[in-house]
Amino acid sequence: MKRKGFNYSLIFLCTVSLVFIDTILSEEARRHYPFIWSLSLIPIILISYMYPKWKVIIVSGVFFSILKYSTEFSQKTAPDNFEMHGLILGSLINWSIILTVGHFIIKSYKLFLKVEELTTTDALTGIYNRRYFDFFMEKTIPISKMGNNPLTFLMLDIDHFKRVNDNYGHQCGDEALIHTSNIIKSNVRESDAFIRFGGEEFAVIMPNTDVDEGLIIAERIREAIEKSDFTYNNERIHLTISIGVSFYNGEKVEEFIKKTDNALYKAKENGRNQIAILIDKNLL
Ligand code: GH3
Ligand code: MG
Ligand code: MG
Repeated sequence: MKRKGFNYSLIFLCTVSLVFIDTILSEEARRHYPFIWSLSLIPIILISYMYPKWKVIIVSGVFFSILKYSTEFSQKTAPDNFEMHGLILGSLINWSIILTVGHFIIKSYKLFLKVEELTTTDALTGIYNRRYFDFFMEKTIPISKMGNNPLTFLMLDIDHFKRVNDNYGHQCGDEALIHTSNIIKSNVRESDAFIRFGGEEFAVIMPNTDVDEGLIIAERIREAIEKSDFTYNNERIHLTISIGVSFYNGEKVEEFIKKTDNALYKAKENGRNQIAILIDKNLL
């Protein structure tokens, strides 16, 4: 946010000083310094960096071209042939720089997005991984605190998953994980963060969701998994999950995780294939 403010000030400052310098330059000086408008590359590159899209880059380039020619033509004496050649040549050079820099800014932005996606995605299930959980919590918790928005956390763990691996092999275990994550995904909303938290453990963070709503969603997921058909080598394997539910109460992220984990532990202890809720540290 602070960086954006700085960039906007710099863009404004460059633009105003460009027009100012060009206006105060004596006619003689302007004839020799038509390339003063190359300074407009600074705001254009800054804008491209902030909004790495071709549309934005071209529009800002066009804006500065219009500004350049309108400033030049609004002077007392219009540019003569010699000055005009300098201006056009300057424009050609500027546009080649804008297009080249734009190309590399967009290319590196795409690369950045790809790296970001790779580092926050789980390779097996294609959903978010634990790293994304940290990013998501970092931005969600302050919003939740500020606006007093309810935040519900579900921790889901496949029951007796080790048996699936032991009885049918690791490949079957992997397919069971994909099957389970697909069902959970189809039962959560776009605004929720669905994460593979660990081996056969998933997390769903639901902003703007109170416990009652969270419990309804948790029950919907539990039931959907219990009723789902998972087959491996033509054999039906019955899968169930246990879910721990908790509600954000101003604590640190680690404590929030611990609280939800305790709820999950309780669901396991109570016999699995069920939901347990923990509202406060001492209240189960
Ligand atoms: P519980 O009901 O108490 O959760 O029992 P469980 O057997 O599910 O739990 P446990 O923690 O004993 O075993 C989890 C197993 O999950 C052990 C591990 O080998 C397996 N696992 C973890 N990650 C993967 C994975 O990516 N693929 C496969 N196939 N198995 C995995
Ligand atoms: Mg398990
Ligand atoms: Mg587990």
